[in-house]
Amino acid sequence: MNIFIMGAPGSGKGTFSSRIKEEFDLNHISTGDIFRANIAGGTELGMQAKAYTEKGLLVPDEITNNMVKEYLSQLSDKKNGYLLDGYPRTLDQAKAFEKMTEGTDLMVDEIVVMDVPFDELTRRITGRRSCKNCGEIYNIYSKPPVKEGICNKCGSELSQRKDDNEESLKTRLEEYAKNTEPVIAYYEEKGMVKRIDATAGIEEIWPVLKEALSK
Ligand code: ADP
Ligand code: ZN
Repeated sequence: MNIFIMGAPGSGKGTFSSRIKEEFDLNHISTGDIFRANIAGGTELGMQAKAYTEKGLLVPDEITNNMVKEYLSQLSDKKNGYLLDGYPRTLDQAKAFEKMTEGTDLMVDEIVVMDVPFDELTRRITGRRSCKNCGEIYNIYSKPPVKEGICNKCGSELSQRKDDNEESLKTRLEEYAKNTEPVIAYYEEKGMVKRIDATAGIEEIWPVLKEALSK
């Protein structure tokens, strides 16, 4: 089972990815997480990506495609497939991925799109906090931690992403409309897309999403 999870910034890709990968025992690749980890670690890749991600711009396709290619070669075959989160985000990436996987068991089987109305996205993004240590995601409005600023799971400090401010968010939403919506349309024509209404709360969405993926 090989899945792409797609959706605008704030649509819940990260939150649901962690549930999906556990439920179906999948390799999880989040290109956003990989960029953030490389930026935090000060690697060459991180230095290349930093200026783009912080402004909310997409990292150039060539850098992103090479990175994904490398991760594909490291997947564990003990898992039931992969969940690719945050990629592909441009038509060029989608085509590059097809080339990389054509004729192998790494071709994508299904594409989940998390649908959320535009104004709800802003609230989610500006309220988002995540654990520096275990990655658990909170929202100060809709899913606050028990103790302010502290992770329920591991007790570490919560932080806010550098690109979760209103200015970068505006750019991210523009990038999404310009580059990523055409990718969804492309897969929709192939009949591969499952759209999930992701407006409600996590516990209401999860059973619907799980059911859609079990079919
Ligand atoms: P979100 O979907 O909430 O914006 P992500 O964590 O998926 O967040 O991505 C954060 C940032 O990382 C993006 O704004 C972009 O700069 C970079 N990025 C992630 N995935 C890609 C990709 N496939 N292509 C180009 N840039 C990417
Ligand atoms: Zn934690």
